[in-house]
Order: sequence, then C-alpha cells, then structure tokens
Amino acid sequence: MFRQPTKIAAALVLALCAGTQAFAQLVGPRPKAEAARCDPSTFRVIVDVGHTPEVPGAISARGVEEYAFNLNLAKVIDGKLREAGFNKAHLLLARGPAIPSLVRRVAEANAMSADLLVSIHHDSVPEAFKAMWDFGGVQRAYSDRFKGHSIFVSADNPHYQASLAFGKMLGSRLKARGLQYTPHYKEAFMGSRRRILVDAETGVYRYDQLLILRTAHMPSVLLEAGSIVHRDEEVLMGSEEHQSQIAGAVTEAVEQFCALRPARTQRASTQR
Ligand SMILES: [Zn+2]
Repeated sequence: MFRQPTKIAAALVLALCAGTQAFAQLVGPRPKAEAARCDPSTFRVIVDVGHTPEVPGAISARGVEEYAFNLNLAKVIDGKLREAGFNKAHLLLARGPAIPSLVRRVAEANAMSADLLVSIHHDSVPEAFKAMWDFGGVQRAYSDRFKGHSIFVSADNPHYQASLAFGKMLGSRLKARGLQYTPHYKEAFMGSRRRILVDAETGVYRYDQLLILRTAHMPSVLLEAGSIVHRDEEVLMGSEEHQSQIAGAVTEAVEQFCALRPARTQRASTQR
C-alpha cells in the first residue's frame, strides 16, 4: 500500500517530464536547437544540372541554351553550399540524349545514398504563347507573359512528404528575398502542363510524372529558377547577384532541412 502511491507519483513525474519535453519541442527556441543538430559535413545534397550540352532544353529570348543557365546557377549553389560546410555536396552532370542521360543521373544519385536532391532548371512557355522579335539581327521566340520561379515535387517519390517539406522551405526562403513564384501552372489554359498547386504560400506544385523526382530514392525537388523566354527575366537570371540570391535561399533551406532530419543523417553518414 505504501509503494503504490510512490509508483503512481513517479509515473506522473515521468509523464509530466515527457509532456514538458514535447511541449518545449513545439514552442521552444527551435532555430537554435535545429542549428545544433545539423552537421552539414555528414549531409549529402545533390545539385542536379538539368539537361545536357547535346540536348540543352529551352532556348532563351536571346538564343542562349537553358543548359548554360542551369550549369551556371548550379555551380553557384554548389559553391554556396560548400561555404556553409556542406562538403559532400555533389554537382550532378551528364552528357548525351535526354532520356538515357536522365536515367544515368538518377542512377548516379541513387548510388550515392544522398539525403536530398535539387534539380536546377530554367523555364519556358508552350509554343502557343510565344511571339517573335529581332535580337542581334536574328528572329527569336519570346514570351513576356509569365515570369517567376516554380518548385515541383512528385507524390510518387518515396519521400513525398519530406520533398514537399523541403519545397516549402525553399519557397519561403525565395519569398523572404522578395522573389515571387509564377502561378500560371495552375491555370486550365496550360492544358497537359497544368499542375496542382500544393502550397499557394510558397509556390510548390505537384508534378508526379517527372522522371527524376519519381525515380530518385531520396527527397527531391525541381526548381524552375525563372523564365528565360521572358526578355527581362532572362537578363535577371544571367546576373551574378540574382544567382547568389537564389543560391542563398537554397542553402538556407538545405540547412533547415538538414537540421530537421538529424537521426537519419547521422545513421546514413556512418554507413557511407
Ligand atoms: Zn529544363
């Protein structure tokens, strides 16, 4: 009879402690706690360069291939990640025809048991929206109708929720820098390119069929950094300052994501 109340009291204390800890995790100083838990040197983020030199993707309003924009920005992002201590960051490049090179990129990414994949692209519009202008004596296709970035995730990725979480982190970091996403992918006039806007606050869309997002084994997002067929935005996308802004947003989002996934990161790092 004497021990019973003690047991109950001990159980109550334990329950209260557990409750207090859970509550502290909800309302406590999260940023500090998160920063302490992220070890960037053990976290591998893959920066995928969209397309190849042979099949370079979209052509800008001034005739520059998308691959060149993707490669430039991906290098700036990779550099910024390394500055932040993400020494295992990996720039994923491929050559050759579109689908085989894409399959090779995904296979390479999967073989590295990475924690996160970010695929870098620059956007165009369907042909019907394009008009012609003269640039440097050459007729070039352009469209000034849509501008802004967009972020895509696939519900078929085995880590859809984590992909979505990172997508939102990235979107909010871009937003914090005054950059706006393009809302046009949710419109009916996009036809087969219409997408579901999963998060209207941060500009994250679902694009389930995208091969790289669907077949990658790690949380994955695709960033269309901006439109290169928009004549003003093409100039912006070529500026080092703007590239640095985007790279800063990606790096901060990776830091936040890394901090929220400590257990998996540390376990995985010991197995590499
Ligand atoms: Zn592309």
